[in-house]
Amino acid sequence: MKLLTLILILTASLCMAQTKVQTQPFDSLGNQTNNFDDQQFAGKLDSATVLLATLVNSKEFEEAFLKVKCLRKNGKNNKEIIALIRSGQEEGTQADNVINLKVAFDYTANEEASTTDKKNVIHINKRYVSDNGVEYLAAQLLHEYCHVLGFCHSKRKARFRPYTVPYRIGTLAATQLHASCVRPN
Ligand SMILES: [Zn+2]
Repeated sequence: MKLLTLILILTASLCMAQTKVQTQPFDSLGNQTNNFDDQQFAGKLDSATVLLATLVNSKEFEEAFLKVKCLRKNGKNNKEIIALIRSGQEEGTQADNVINLKVAFDYTANEEASTTDKKNVIHINKRYVSDNGVEYLAAQLLHEYCHVLGFCHSKRKARFRPYTVPYRIGTLAATQLHASCVRPN
């Protein structure tokens, strides 16, 4: 009987496990490094990851996402997409409840950010980081993380692009974080 109680408690705590967000530094060529060379960007990234973790674990975010219509969902419904994000199961890794972000800061990306290489390194444009608040960096990271999870969108500004998973999730994140619906305790 005691063992059963223990199993139930363990199962319940595993179900409630909070998703963490971790970053790994990469250089602009997509090679892993020990540190980010710019402390200002590194500091902003730290703040963004705190915001991002709060956001993905929040009920407000989940409830809002469950109501939106999305395209190119890779056969998943919105609930499964949220679960996948929270599971931290990047391509080829185990579901560990850790969102691992491989991040490089550079000036070469002609967009805000891109996740184009095979190693799933997220290239963030330094200009974008300098010009925007931490909440937009957090939202952009989540957009890019959707690419890491295999969701895509057209490169062109097509009419339906805002409805794709990366754009829907990123826009929702920016809106909620900017409106301070979701803040770390
Ligand atoms: Zn994108």
